[in-house]
Amino acid sequence: MQLFTQAEIRHIEDRYQDFLKVIHEKFDEERLARIEKAFRFANAAHEGIKRKSGEPYIIHSIAVAKIVAKDLALGATSIVASLLHDVVEDTEYTVADIENMFGEKVAHIVDGLTKISGDFDSRQALSLKKILTTISDDVRVILIKLADRLHNMQTLDSMMPQKRIKIAGETLFLYVPLAHRLGLYALKHELEELSFQHKHPNEYNQIRYMLHNQEEKRNYLIDKFIKPIKEKLNEENVEFTISHRLKSTYSIWQKMQNKGVSFNEVYDLMAIRIVIKPKPEISEKRQCFDVLSTVTDIYKPKPDRIRDWITIPKINGYESLHVTVMGPQGKWVEVQIRTERMDEIAEHGFAAHYRYKDISVYEAELENWIEKIREHLQSPESDAFEFLNDFKLNLYDNEINVFTPKGDMYFMPKGSTVIDFAYEIHSDLGNKCIGAKINQNLLPITHVLENGDQIEILTSEKQTPKLDWLKYTTSTKARTKIKDAFKLEKNKHIEKGKIIVEEAIKKENVPLTFNNLKKIIAHYNLNNKEQLYSEVGMGFLELNELSQILGKKSQNKLIKYWNITFSKKKKEEEVEEVEKDIEEEIENSTKKIDKQKPFILKEGHDNIDFSLAKCCNPIPGEKVIGYLSSDDHVIIHKIGCKEAEKLLSSKGELIVTAEWTKFKKQSYLSRIHINGFDRVGIVNEVSNVISKENNINMRSIKFDTTEGIFEGELFLYIHNTEDLNKLISQLQKIKGIDNVSRVENLYD
Ligand code: MN
Repeated sequence: MQLFTQAEIRHIEDRYQDFLKVIHEKFDEERLARIEKAFRFANAAHEGIKRKSGEPYIIHSIAVAKIVAKDLALGATSIVASLLHDVVEDTEYTVADIENMFGEKVAHIVDGLTKISGDFDSRQALSLKKILTTISDDVRVILIKLADRLHNMQTLDSMMPQKRIKIAGETLFLYVPLAHRLGLYALKHELEELSFQHKHPNEYNQIRYMLHNQEEKRNYLIDKFIKPIKEKLNEENVEFTISHRLKSTYSIWQKMQNKGVSFNEVYDLMAIRIVIKPKPEISEKRQCFDVLSTVTDIYKPKPDRIRDWITIPKINGYESLHVTVMGPQGKWVEVQIRTERMDEIAEHGFAAHYRYKDISVYEAELENWIEKIREHLQSPESDAFEFLNDFKLNLYDNEINVFTPKGDMYFMPKGSTVIDFAYEIHSDLGNKCIGAKINQNLLPITHVLENGDQIEILTSEKQTPKLDWLKYTTSTKARTKIKDAFKLEKNKHIEKGKIIVEEAIKKENVPLTFNNLKKIIAHYNLNNKEQLYSEVGMGFLELNELSQILGKKSQNKLIKYWNITFSKKKKEEEVEEVEKDIEEEIENSTKKIDKQKPFILKEGHDNIDFSLAKCCNPIPGEKVIGYLSSDDHVIIHKIGCKEAEKLLSSKGELIVTAEWTKFKKQSYLSRIHINGFDRVGIVNEVSNVISKENNINMRSIKFDTTEGIFEGELFLYIHNTEDLNKLISQLQKIKGIDNVSRVENLYD
């Protein structure tokens, strides 16, 4: 029976021929035959199966193989494995079948890919552990996985919106850092752009539009800037290309978010890249520095903004020279200088190293990194999610290099302290560390290391690891070791925490019911009782907002009950029984939340079914998602909130879409930041707009003026985004006001 139409069969064949065009020159007959065999086999195996988009499934496999061949420039074995990557997962065939037909290596890679498959696996932390295990096994598994993810992102349109957001979040959270760590900048860039586009379509389109608007002006300025450089380099007989590096929409948006600046402020930073074709007789490094000196002869460099990643490349293999110079329009311009080889590595990372066959140095680094991963994986007790968070911190390569007294070099994450370094060398050294001698100075364990430091760790037999060392550690290794030391005492912390929590609740004159505990757990975004107890027990969490959390309404009801029971002088067991009954009653009366439907946030409800996350303080009207903290309670986060992103990737199955109804009565505390030029009467005008024109209640308002520039911080009670936007646009119209923005975090 024919499972596909003629048109579909033709479509598959066309795509395959396209793919062959990309690879046929690179491989000999024997390899091409293996690839052909893999395709025919996969095509037959997936016959009749379609993707969500309606396309035959095999089109996806071909696309992944194409990315693997073209963008990652991997060899025939990887291409064969890519074509087969979903066969074991989606068809009847087994790894053993693959091994019989394509050999051990291919089977091994396909097996690895199958183990980490499941794009919508909600336990991403566990997935990461699996991924890392496969990296330490065969790095090609993760490279193919990244290609697979890229194609899934490219075809995300056919997914349901909620899934799209989930997948995009997961991509940003997991795959982007991995791509970065492997130096696959081009792929990373594309993953980022696609994720951003799906997660924040409006912002994405806005930035695209603004970029488009400025194109002409931008091109003019760039031409003007590079003209003298071009002329000079031509005079000097340098073979080069010079290009403008356009910031990605995602990185622009991120800067706007993180620094709270406008598009224009971010956008102002221009970047130019000069790629030279080096002459064979002189060292590449020398030639790059020659170009640097040509550039800084023309434009003044910013002091200490010359970055040399040629002498010591970044840990992911990146080599380049960066300098920031003052351009002709009085604006800083970043100039990157590198050779063609370095450029290739910068774009294609790991794969390029293979092509240039200079993998020895890089491989040693990678091997080093993988060794670290193995160590972490070996700690059987490590909580998968904790592990993920700690590990992610280390995926980005803001590294410094420091030295032991003997002169051995170590790469450490930026911000590492003496403790980090001590644990890096040996856990005994960490556990006993009391300080260090750095460049002849005695310094405490909390001291932050700097590039080039030479460090001698000082120890004492009396020292033991302290929990608050976690505040001063960055590296995964140190954090894991310190936590391990304390996990042994976990039960003690839980017991201690339980007592503190129970006493605190009693102090509020509220009974100790499961429902009340649940409110506290939800308020602090925790998962369960144990977590609450241990956080409190370890002193990480202070319960100073209890009266707020255990809201008035339920309090009254329960106090009444409390009094009755006590007036009747029941025995304690009986009290507990009644409590249980009430709990059950409450439990049964509150409806379970349907995960499939969007969660509607209604006003007027006493809000027992949802609470607003403290990390991002959403206000009515904003784009939000919900996290099911229990069957009947949802915690609302802003889309894009970092905490929410974490939840998306670790507990995706507990995320629901959410919408606000019109909120008119209830209001929410919001923090607004404004700045501008000080003039007489401006404060008056601001408060007039707020209270008279908009009738908004103020909690506090604070202004600071220095040298004619003022900054104001307003705490206002806002009903919804509509009101907020109206207010912001009116404030912005006041003469002298430069910028008005909302600050998500209510407390610094
Ligand atoms: Mn796939």
